Amino acid sequence: MDRTIAGFDQLARFWLERAPARGVVARLDESIERALRDHDYPPAVKTILRHLAGAAVLLASNLKQPATIVLQAQGSGDVPLLCVEATQALTFRAYANVRSEAKVADDATLADLVDRGGKGRFILTIDPDVGQMYQGIVAMEYATVAENLQSYLSNSQQTDTRVWLREDGEALEACLLERLPDHATGDDMKAWDQLVAAMDGTFEQPFMPFPYSEWLNFTFASDDVRLHPAQPVAFACPCSMSRVLNALKLVGAEELMPLAQERGSIDTRCEFCGQSYQVSQASLIELFANSSASTAPGSQTLQ
Ligand SMILES: [Zn+2]
Repeated sequence: MDRTIAGFDQLARFWLERAPARGVVARLDESIERALRDHDYPPAVKTILRHLAGAAVLLASNLKQPATIVLQAQGSGDVPLLCVEATQALTFRAYANVRSEAKVADDATLADLVDRGGKGRFILTIDPDVGQMYQGIVAMEYATVAENLQSYLSNSQQTDTRVWLREDGEALEACLLERLPDHATGDDMKAWDQLVAAMDGTFEQPFMPFPYSEWLNFTFASDDVRLHPAQPVAFACPCSMSRVLNALKLVGAEELMPLAQERGSIDTRCEFCGQSYQVSQASLIELFANSSASTAPGSQTLQ
């Protein structure tokens, strides 16, 4: 099978000619494998990160300006943080903080991992390249990424939104369906319910490794599915020495200079991609000599 023709590592938006909805479908394969390759996460953590990556890419495809979507699940469980960032260019990276003593069951759900006590939080941040950051935080009320996200979206956007995610242990398929506004009549609500039921039926099936153009047509057999051209999805980590220096600037000279004097350098590592960065004592002296009060704004990212 040709994985490009089948739509792997691609995202495509679609709309229906005769129904009040539009959607996005994405398939991650080598991109998510690459994003997780250098991490020794338990299988359940990798599964949830795949789901978060699929969800983040769907959301990133809706961005109207250059920005980064950050999806985080936070709590006090064995995995207190899972984080995926996706950009408007449809690149993404993923990270989880797994406690060293954690014993994670292979079938653990998002809620199991992050907080069994029900105190987990689901956080969606939109961080534009230019302009104000937006952040929405909700209690983690559901066990899965898809349920938490669609609940959040339906409440915040005041339009019905459904999210489906499924995988085969390697590749992940993600779909978002959104009811279009101005169709809130009884008939259109019925039409929407039928669309959701049709997609529920499709996603109850095992992962189908054939082109989504085929299964979309099959799912919405009574409608005309119109696909926009597919866009590539890829892993990319934007970490760099200049971001590391910005982060160190925020930590401050008082904390870092004694360490640098003792060790000769400050060694740090990108939590997302594993890239190592070594900042010499001389570079730090220069950094703090040149630093005025101007520092990069605080960000959710680690590098
Ligand atoms: Zn990195």
